Formats: sequence, C-alpha cells, structure tokens
Amino acid sequence: MAENPKSPPVCDYEGSDYNARFWESGERDYEDQVERVALRRLMPPSGDTLIEVGAGFGRLADEYRGYRRVVLFDYSRTLLREAQAALGDDPRFIYVAGNWYHMPFVQGLFETVVQIRTLHHAADVPAVFAQLARISRPQAAYVLEFASKKNLKAILRYAARRQDWSPFTSEPVEFVELNFDFHPQWIREQLQVAGFEPGQMLTVSHFRIPVVKKIVPTGVLVTLDSAAQRTGNWWQFTPSVFVLNRSVATHKTAAEDLFFACPHCGTPLGEPQDRALACPGCGRRWSVADGLYDFKAPLP
Ligand SMILES: [Zn+2]
Repeated sequence: MAENPKSPPVCDYEGSDYNARFWESGERDYEDQVERVALRRLMPPSGDTLIEVGAGFGRLADEYRGYRRVVLFDYSRTLLREAQAALGDDPRFIYVAGNWYHMPFVQGLFETVVQIRTLHHAADVPAVFAQLARISRPQAAYVLEFASKKNLKAILRYAARRQDWSPFTSEPVEFVELNFDFHPQWIREQLQVAGFEPGQMLTVSHFRIPVVKKIVPTGVLVTLDSAAQRTGNWWQFTPSVFVLNRSVATHKTAAEDLFFACPHCGTPLGEPQDRALACPGCGRRWSVADGLYDFKAPLP
C-alpha cells in the first residue's frame, strides 16, 4: 500500500460477501461452535480492554461482553460496517480499520488480545507478533488460532505423494497466494521471540471432513470435538490449533487517557476534531466517520 511502502502485502476482504458466503450458509455451524468452545476455555471472561485482530463482521463479538472496551479491528471497512450494523450502538464496541503491521494504538494498552482465523493470511508472522506484543499490557492474555500444516489430512496426502510439501518441516507453506499453514513448533518459537510465553494448546476442528459433517449431527460433533480439544497440549494433528499466550513485556501498562497512536510515526493521538484524529508528531490526519476509526490511509 502506498502509505506504508515497507509493509508486506495484506489480504483484503474489502467489499467482499465473505459474511454471507462463508458463515450464514449454516455449513460452518460446526466450526463456529467448536471455536467458541475453545475461546471460552482460554480467554479470561471479563476485563478492561480487549482487541480482536481480524474481527471481520463481528461473528464472535458477543463473546466479549464481559469487557469494558472492545476494539473490533480489521483491514476491511466493509466488514466493520456490517459489525456495526449488527451490534447497534453498544458503546463498548470500537470499530477500527487498519493494517496489522502498523497497529494504531499506544504501547501497553490491551489486557486481552484475540486472533482467530486470520494469521493464515500473514506473510510476515514475526512482524504481526511484534506489533501485538507492543500493544499488550504486561501479563496480557493473547488467544491465537492458527492453521496447522502438520494436520492429519496433509500427513496422509504427503505419504501418498499427492502433496509436494512436507507437513513436518518448520517453515510456513503458502498453499494459495496469501494463505499460509504453519508448524506448531515454529509458531511457538516466533511467539517467544516477540515477547509472549506460549501456554495451553487446544486442537480444534477434529472433524472438518465434509462427509462426516454431512452424516453426523452438528451437536454430536461439537461434543466430541470439545472432549478431544484437551489433548492439544500433547499432540496437534488438527487443521486448527488454539494457543493461550502470556505477554512477558517489560513495558508499562498504558496511561488511562491514552488509546490511539499514529500508525505512521507512533505519536499518541488526542480526541477527534472535525471527524479526524490529527497527529501532533507528523501532521497526518486520520478519518473518524460515523463511529469508524480509519487508519488504512491518511486523509488527503
Ligand atoms: Zn504521526
């Protein structure tokens, strides 16, 4: 993107019908329910300030009602507007469009960070983790879901020579442009480098197999998956893995009156004026329109 020439490419759902196509058809009820089970097991149920990175149209927003302030962050303004329309004017929710390589928040702001089904679009995982470590408070909880390359289907395909990449080597595999699968051990290492201590792991979506989803009732699959998730600390062969991390940051929790920071130069921003946040550091102005904070590109 023009404003941040050093930024890696970002997967853009702007203007897409992702919501209707993917989640409202009902074909993903199983995935939706088992992800909620895992999220409830790992996420502190209440607290001060939470951000969901890649919140999309707010599918999981109702899980965050125990928090005082909830940032729904996404690259797509279109999806955030859908979230806003669905959630109404609940003052807890703050809608922020931006680039995860340039998070527009002050250091040490968030008590809880959630990221589900979005890291598989990250071309530069260490850079994303570094940003999330910066905006996390000391001891913050970071609930991360990632797509695992070492899943049973990939292992069987590799063994049958129907897949050329190995599910056992540590490097990420880009199976479609800007769609990556990761090795669980590699993810743990990158988390530690960034300043997180990985803890409990849950394996999720054990039964993401079309024919099984067709014959077995969703409720039964959810019950079976919920029981199997607990084995995630010992082995991970599912396409989806959740991990709860703790921030081991040495920086301080952000002051109560600070929130946004300029994504270009990092200077803390004050209150909006004339539908914009003006940066006292570099002079760039960021749009605030109808409840959407837009840090994708500065105002002209
Ligand atoms: Zn600035």
